[in-house]
Amino acid sequence: MTGYGPARAMPRRTLVRREPFLRIKGRGRSVVLTFDDGPDPRYTPEVLRTLKAHDVRAMFFVCGEMVVENRDMLRKMADEGHVIGNHTWSHPLLTELTRSAIRSQMERTSDVIEQTCGARPGWFRAPYGAWNRAVFEIGAELGMEPLAWSVDTLDWTAPSSQSIERRVLKGAAEGMVVLAHDAGGDRSPSVRALRRYLPRLLDSGYHITVPRWQTR
Ligand SMILES: [Zn+2]
Repeated sequence: MTGYGPARAMPRRTLVRREPFLRIKGRGRSVVLTFDDGPDPRYTPEVLRTLKAHDVRAMFFVCGEMVVENRDMLRKMADEGHVIGNHTWSHPLLTELTRSAIRSQMERTSDVIEQTCGARPGWFRAPYGAWNRAVFEIGAELGMEPLAWSVDTLDWTAPSSQSIERRVLKGAAEGMVVLAHDAGGDRSPSVRALRRYLPRLLDSGYHITVPRWQTR
C-alpha cells in the first residue's frame, strides 16, 4: 500500500461493496479488536496501555470531531502500529443525510486523519452500522473498505465488564471482529473487560491482528 504518497494525491478507489466485511481472515486463529467513537482522553490511553502490555495491534474507528481535540492521542495510536479507520466527523445516521453531507462527513474525517498521522485511512465504519448504497459508493471513492463486526460487546448498553468479557469469549472464532467503544459514554467497563478478555484470548491460542491493508 502506498500510504505516504504526495500529500494531496487522490485516493485510489476501491470496489463498491454491497455490504460491509463482517470478519477478517488472517493467518491461523486470528481475531480483530476494534474500538469506536474516540479518541477520548478518559479511556483511550488505558486501552492503548493494555494493548501495548500484550504487544498486540487493534483498529480504532475515530470521529473527526474527537480527533481535532486529541491529535496527540491519534499520533500515538498510529505510532504504536494500530490501524486508524474513519467513523465520520460527528457520528450521524448517514442514511438520513444527503449525498453531499455523507461525503463531507467522511472526507473531512479522512483529511484530519491524514493531517495528523500522514496517511489516509483504508477502512471506514458507518455509525450505528447504518449503511446504504451512497455510503458504500462514497467510501469506495475515498479509497476505503467498509468494516462491520461479528461480535458486538453491547458496551453501549452499559453492561458490567463481566458481561462484556463473556460476550467476547463466547463469540470467539476465527476471523471474529469485536466491536467495543473507547468513547461516547462511561467506558470504564469496556476498559476493564479488555484487561480480562485479551489475555484469555491469547491463552486460548488466538492471534490478535489487524488487516494488512491499513492505509492508502
Ligand atoms: Zn460509533
